[in-house]
Amino acid sequence: ADNWRDRPVCVAGLGVSGRAAARALADRGARVTLVDARDDADARAQAEPLREHGVEVRLGDGDTLPPGTDLVVVSPGWRPDAPLPGAAAAAGVEIYGEVELAWRLRPAEGAAPWLALTGTNGKTTAVRMLASILRAAGHRTLAVGNVGTPIVEAAADPSYDVLAVELSSFQLHWSSSLDPLAAAVLNVAPDHIDWHGSLEAYAADKGRIFGPGTFAVANAADPVTLRLAEGASRRAAFTLAIPAPGEVGVVEDLLVDRAFTADPVREAAELASLSDVRPFAPHNVANALAAAALARAYGVPPEAVREGLRAFTPDPHRIAHVATVDGVDYVDDSKATNPHAAQASLAAYEKVVWIAGGLLKGAEVDDLVRSCAGRLRGAVLLGADRGKIAEALARHAPDVPVVDVAETETGAMDTVVTQASRLARPGDTVLLAPAGASFDMFAGYGARGDAFAAAVHRLAGRAAG
Ligand code: ADP
Repeated sequence: ADNWRDRPVCVAGLGVSGRAAARALADRGARVTLVDARDDADARAQAEPLREHGVEVRLGDGDTLPPGTDLVVVSPGWRPDAPLPGAAAAAGVEIYGEVELAWRLRPAEGAAPWLALTGTNGKTTAVRMLASILRAAGHRTLAVGNVGTPIVEAAADPSYDVLAVELSSFQLHWSSSLDPLAAAVLNVAPDHIDWHGSLEAYAADKGRIFGPGTFAVANAADPVTLRLAEGASRRAAFTLAIPAPGEVGVVEDLLVDRAFTADPVREAAELASLSDVRPFAPHNVANALAAAALARAYGVPPEAVREGLRAFTPDPHRIAHVATVDGVDYVDDSKATNPHAAQASLAAYEKVVWIAGGLLKGAEVDDLVRSCAGRLRGAVLLGADRGKIAEALARHAPDVPVVDVAETETGAMDTVVTQASRLARPGDTVLLAPAGASFDMFAGYGARGDAFAAAVHRLAGRAAG
């Protein structure tokens, strides 16, 4: 185990995870300096309890490496090309992310093993499915990673048997020695390329989730994930097709395990029914299979998979059914904030009026539009980058009627929903799956989904009245 006593460590960032990291290091006797560019009333209020904890806090400068530092701990949001990590790298000073730190601070004896997952899309859903399955098997567990309890605290907490860990590509970028018991890469599609530098670098960062002892789980339909798992000594894959030995997959209406039974060549175990996966969509079946594989690698019995999936409550704004009005289903997938996510949710419906737009963050939408062209009854576009989607629709789906909503003020969503309702026929689905981020018009994807749901309810009121 690392010896922390008197070690001069610089923690970069006064966020939730930075504060937790500073406290944990101070508790172990390190000499901790926390730096942050902010120096407002909030920052000062957050600094105070840390100072009482023995942490030196320097506000108003997040760029200068304190002299004598021999380790830097960065919060996941810090870009690799920011001045402070740059200065550390130039000086040969080691850099850990909060996840690497959490891994290294785990107690030598009896630490809870990690079941970890990453991917461009589906992380939050899959990690919560996993925690639900583990709980159904009677384990004391917590879903950690991007939100909630800082991973530094959860990893050192003796009250958990096993942790369900969601890891972003940013967190993995700053990790070097993780060795989870089992780990899955759900999918890899272009996203955050500006941060990582290239798709190759982004994929390579995701591959850091596999350590030398990790049981690696990959997506049989995604060659990038298969390649990342190639070097692992033990591995399995999930598939929406009939599973081969070494895979979990789907046989008729059942989720089936042919990877973790005593004899995968001759023996398959029934895990659950397709109807146990909610909300039902092919990509959620993939998420459920990945979660099941991780749980099975940990030794969870097949029955707990079914029970855990049934107990799982989906997060809002992830293909959430809002209402049925005049025979048309209205579905909120506001969390589909990149083209890969929107493509997955569009594939779940037969005939769709697609509501799309927002900030594309430089992503291309041609593949997405090509893949869903045949399913589109129409499209209603809003937000900053709607023009780019309109152009792709004109190229690949010239017969699909497109309504462009130029409004950006309150009430725009009423126009959007009204236009969508005019395009839809009974049996169709009106799907908000924007493929872009929401910050051009809304406070976040949650606010965008809420605005959509409110407009749908007003439409339902008018239809009933
Ligand atoms: P993340 O935490 O990775 O952002 P979420 O579970 O919050 O993932 O899902 C975000 C969105 O991604 C969903 O609203 C859905 O549109 C899409 N999605 C979920 N799972 C998958 C998957 N396995 N493959 C592709 N898209 C997915």
